[in-house]
Amino acid sequence: YPCEVIRNFSIIAHIDHGKSTLADRLLELTGTITKQEKGLNQQVLDKLKVERERGITVKAQTASMFHEKSGTRYLLNLIDTPGHVDFSWEVARSLAACQGALLLVDASQGVQAQSISVFHVAKEKGLTIIPVLNKIDLPAAQPEVVAQQMESTFGINPADVIKISAKTGKGVEQVLHAIIERIPPPAGNPLDPLKAFLFDSSYDRYRGVISLMSIQSGVLRKGDKIASCFTRKKYEVTELGIMYPEEVPTDCLRPGQVGFVACSMKESSEAHIGDTFYRVGQPVDPMPGFKPAKAMVYAGVYPVDSNDFLKLEESIKRLSLTDRSVEVTRETSSALGQGCRLGFLGTLHMDVFRQRLEDEYNADVIITAPTVPYKVLHRDGKTSIVSNPTDFPDPADFASGGRAKAVQEPIVKASIIVPEKYFSAMMELVFEHRGTDLDWQSLEVAGEASGDGRVLMTATLPLAEIVTDFFDKLKSRSSGFASFDYEDAGYQTSDMRKMTFLLNGKPVDALALIVHADKAEAIGRSWVEKLFKVIPRQLFEIPIQAAIGGKIIARRTLSAMRADVTAGLYGGHYERKLKHLNNQKESKRKMKRVGKVDLPQEAFYDLLSK
Ligand code: GDP
Ligand code: MG
Repeated sequence: YPCEVIRNFSIIAHIDHGKSTLADRLLELTGTITKQEKGLNQQVLDKLKVERERGITVKAQTASMFHEKSGTRYLLNLIDTPGHVDFSWEVARSLAACQGALLLVDASQGVQAQSISVFHVAKEKGLTIIPVLNKIDLPAAQPEVVAQQMESTFGINPADVIKISAKTGKGVEQVLHAIIERIPPPAGNPLDPLKAFLFDSSYDRYRGVISLMSIQSGVLRKGDKIASCFTRKKYEVTELGIMYPEEVPTDCLRPGQVGFVACSMKESSEAHIGDTFYRVGQPVDPMPGFKPAKAMVYAGVYPVDSNDFLKLEESIKRLSLTDRSVEVTRETSSALGQGCRLGFLGTLHMDVFRQRLEDEYNADVIITAPTVPYKVLHRDGKTSIVSNPTDFPDPADFASGGRAKAVQEPIVKASIIVPEKYFSAMMELVFEHRGTDLDWQSLEVAGEASGDGRVLMTATLPLAEIVTDFFDKLKSRSSGFASFDYEDAGYQTSDMRKMTFLLNGKPVDALALIVHADKAEAIGRSWVEKLFKVIPRQLFEIPIQAAIGGKIIARRTLSAMRADVTAGLYGGHYERKLKHLNNQKESKRKMKRVGKVDLPQEAFYDLLSK
């Protein structure tokens, strides 16, 4: 396949605007999959069970298809991108392998927060953008109004907008033509030295790491010896080919092509997304902009039954082979026993990982409250990154003569798009979450009925504020209409404190939190209240306290149960959780002792998964 007949493209869209549906339709129309196959496997590109259940794309998938036009057979490579803000970094990576992108917008929803962010990423990469309006079959569709929105927001000529229904297939043929006509073919000389760009990888139990590569120049063949620009490690190519839509081996991959490459790579940690490979003996300059993925949300993961730790650790290790953006280290808690500390790209990523552990490995887990990575500036000039409350300095360390000077927290630039009538509710939400630099502009299109217009709001928010329940609140306070996106905006100095919880005067390490000084009291009180509800009464009185350093900021006392109460510790509230116990006998050994207080592991489960 010479370059001229190749088109590499991606579909970019806000979540739910129909990316997977359109991808399926394109694969069907080009005969890559049949309707029956589709029936068996709803949305071929969304492979994981959790992706199908949640209707989101977690991992980028790629598929090639062939389409004939005016007697020429074209090879079209669709590079699917993940559909959630946590994975925006992967979106940028996937786009580096494309020359064009279909910007898909739901004709009933209009331009949303992620439509804007993905548009900018594609624009930055210099891609040809084909605007597509989807769901024109819906009665609520307003194709003309939304086409105008696209003009005012993106400077797109409404005449270039293709109007389709990915569901019924209407207009999809036109999309295929536009891909061929409007997107330029990839450049690249087969005679130049080999340059292969790694943009995704997966793990296969038998063959090791399978990489997805885009060939920038030169030809890659089976048996070739290649090396990584980043690690300088050498590998031999054992198998390669295209995704059609599953792996189909070929003899070689030529410039402009994308395909899978199996080589002697054993560990998924060796596959660095964005890395460039060259033929051994013919080094090349790497593709620009390489940076390794960085975790932004950390949490401890513990088995509900501490005897299951080794099994859990094994499951986590296997799962992280297929998701290399998860960081794994061991940690121990006096309250919860052995566990793992995991780093995720964001909270959705964390939820997805947890659900996969439960679905695919049948593991019941307790996840501690999420923490973002803080920078602690020390008096000796050094800086350390702290992503575990246990390692966070105590207030005494900040006092004069102490080792710590200040703390910086990660911040993001957030954008929210919302109908005008929810504007004040959103403003309140932003301020409740320590937002600053709030700015807004109307997205109203001239001539559109007023009052129904939408507003684009931007603000700076601490990352810690959006990793908890921000997204849920955003959705509920806007009746589901607000859309949200964010990008990394560096660090800012903030007055953060370590909060500990004490039972009967003894700290419970697994519950420690890092909180902002202004919110400490409210957070302390609400957690003490939660603890009060989940801790079973015992034979003696138990003070439950929240403290910052030596200062108690909230307290409740759990009274002793009367000696004649024989109902045991698992009254009313725990019945619900008994499904996590096989029988009462087992529950005894799951009991933890914190000081003199007996705590069932389920109390933590209740507390932390609320
Ligand atoms: P993604 O999140 O962008 O991948 O979106 P999906 O392809 O999963 O689609 C989200 C929802 O919209 C699904 O319920 C689809 O069935 C539906 N959908 C997609 N395209 C159309 C369309 O053209 N018309 C209608 N009525 N529904 C559509
Ligand atoms: Mg999808």
